[in-house]
Amino acid sequence: MDFKQLPPVKEQIMKCVRCGKCRSVCPIFAEVGNETVAPRGHVFMVGMLRDGKVEPSLEVVERLTNCLMCETCSINCPSGIDIHELNAAARSYIYDKNPSLSRGFVFDTLWTKPGMLKKSTRMMYTAQKLGLQSLARNLGMMRILPGDLAKAEGILDALPRRTARSVLAEVNPAKGAKQYTIGYFLGCATDLINPSVAIAAVDVLTRNGCEVIIPSTTKCCGLPHIANGKMETARELAAHNVKLFNKYNFDYIITDCASCSSALSLKNMEFLAGGPLNPEEAQAFAAKVMDLTQFLVEKLELSLPPLSVEPIKVTYHDPCHLANAQGIKQAPRDLLKLIPGLELVEMDLANRCCGGSGTFALTHYDLSMKVLDKKMASAMATGAQYIATCCPSCTMQLRYGIKRHNWDAKVIHPVELISLYYQKMAKSA
Ligand code: SF4
Ligand code: SF4
Repeated sequence: MDFKQLPPVKEQIMKCVRCGKCRSVCPIFAEVGNETVAPRGHVFMVGMLRDGKVEPSLEVVERLTNCLMCETCSINCPSGIDIHELNAAARSYIYDKNPSLSRGFVFDTLWTKPGMLKKSTRMMYTAQKLGLQSLARNLGMMRILPGDLAKAEGILDALPRRTARSVLAEVNPAKGAKQYTIGYFLGCATDLINPSVAIAAVDVLTRNGCEVIIPSTTKCCGLPHIANGKMETARELAAHNVKLFNKYNFDYIITDCASCSSALSLKNMEFLAGGPLNPEEAQAFAAKVMDLTQFLVEKLELSLPPLSVEPIKVTYHDPCHLANAQGIKQAPRDLLKLIPGLELVEMDLANRCCGGSGTFALTHYDLSMKVLDKKMASAMATGAQYIATCCPSCTMQLRYGIKRHNWDAKVIHPVELISLYYQKMAKSA
């Protein structure tokens, strides 16, 4: 769909009353303090772009990408403007007018072909194992990487030996009486970087009467593409996944990744409307999508028997794509509170972006670190042993924060803690 015809651009942009509410909650404005990075500055810029008062140039996109796409501005805007969608649409419009070979390769080729993405991650794993990454760092070779990649290279911590897909079967039968057939949407980051989360998710679901099917030809959810100005590719990915999952008769489509569930939501499907994405098919698909923590608490009504265990202290970080994009804050907390011996200690900045935001830390390292350091101070003040969260991008960023601050804590998905509890139960039986 043409940029000017997209609903936020066509219908919402006029609603800005320049009240500044969005500016007062924006974590980037809090660090930079300049109107050009403020959300209402972005709204103004997109209006100028729509009216042809500025050229769709890379200077304009540089201003617009000073944004975490955290959606804090959108949920606080009294006029109900989806400011982040305006920003994403404008990025895509500008990048279409200024194509780049490297951007095209990463987002149109590498990130649309799961086999290729897996191979490149395996190559990075081998380089890490052989010490080639630290050799290159010591020789100063990392300095030749584009943008902030050299500085941010430490964020991509030690990669796991195996991907989730290489460990898990495509069909995982329910243990005991079957209640539901689940389509598990295995996101790229969970598969390649955090496989233990997928393994725990399948463990907990199958123990609780779910048959879990992991369609082998699932592609990326498309959120990195939206954030990086590749809306057309995001549409193609959505159309592929919708068709694939609709072929099965799933009761629910579950994902443990906040970014994936927000990309697969009806709201995002409506934003992507057009091209190969059939609206009825997309609606039927999105109606079944549910975040894993919500499913475990609200549909399965999970409960855990008491056991004599070491008490643990956990704090919870709200991923923006769960709390802001989907309003899911309670379910992950309720899930954690089900674990006997677990004390949930809230941090004061639980619902503030960690600064990771997918690829933001790789392109805006210094700004990302300022946002991260505030989050870490808040988390460390709780004295927790674990930070629980439901997003692989936040997990990576928070793990980096822990290293950066020499803090002795771990980052974990709530479902991993549940799975660990089941293992303790089995040992004590
Ligand atoms: S909060 Fe909404 S209405 Fe107010 S300045 Fe920001 S975009 Fe405009
Ligand atoms: S999405 Fe987040 S970082 Fe971007 S303008 Fe809105 S509040 Fe600021």
